[in-house]
Amino acid sequence: MSNLLSGLGKFGLGNLEEMKLFEEEEKKEAPGKTVNKVPEEEEFLFDKSFDCVVCDAKFTERVLRANKARLLGVDTDLRPRHEHIDVSKYDVISCPYCGYTALSRYYVKLPPTLVKLIKANISDAYIRRDDNPSVYSYDYAFERYQLCLANAIVRRAKDSEKAYICLKISWILRGMGENLDQSDAEYKEKLKEIKEQERGFSKHAYDGFSKARQSEDFPLCRMDEATLDYLLAVLAISFNQPDVASRLISGILTSHSAKSSLKEKARDLKDKLKEVKGK
Ligand SMILES: [Zn+2]
Repeated sequence: MSNLLSGLGKFGLGNLEEMKLFEEEEKKEAPGKTVNKVPEEEEFLFDKSFDCVVCDAKFTERVLRANKARLLGVDTDLRPRHEHIDVSKYDVISCPYCGYTALSRYYVKLPPTLVKLIKANISDAYIRRDDNPSVYSYDYAFERYQLCLANAIVRRAKDSEKAYICLKISWILRGMGENLDQSDAEYKEKLKEIKEQERGFSKHAYDGFSKARQSEDFPLCRMDEATLDYLLAVLAISFNQPDVASRLISGILTSHSAKSSLKEKARDLKDKLKEVKGK
């Protein structure tokens, strides 16, 4: 029997054959006027004007509205997770005219020698993109971060800054993996590739921050010593260096300046480390 009521046609009630025995919950998604509408990513963003610190051109960028996105939690490597939007996608400022690109916290005036370096190594060859999406895909965000990293290398940015860009790229790749279409026939392959890339950038972040910790003064990328040590400990565990992690965690737990919330997280990490070592 194809349908519970098929045959009703004989009674002249064929139009009732498709009735459902039990009512399904109505999906109230009438386009344009839903009651509890899920906010669009676009609602968290606005256009902000910038004057390029390299070529002086005026341009606008998509930036986050302050305090609009609700923080849901933070991954162990400090990646923030917000409701309805991945804020990491919007932390890069890129001049569409000359290609100069930096993380928002590092988008500051540059000395003439560095402007020259950017112009010679980036701007001269840079081809302006015409697409200007109001909401960024992960691929688009990833490309902007790559340009950001290239600029940082060209202008000889500190190791901490380059490491921080790599860390943020690993967050972008994690988001990309989480948002892959699972019905795609190549889903597993694509996810594997993205995971490998994520791990590569995470390792660059680990190496860069390890170097920076020896040679730069705190705060590094706005992180105090305890926060950076916590991040390094997380990465050390991930890259199979339990002794390094152990040392860093002990340092945090005995530190006088580390916040109690961070010490708590360090204690959790210590437990995790025990599990890892026990394997
Ligand atoms: Zn520019």
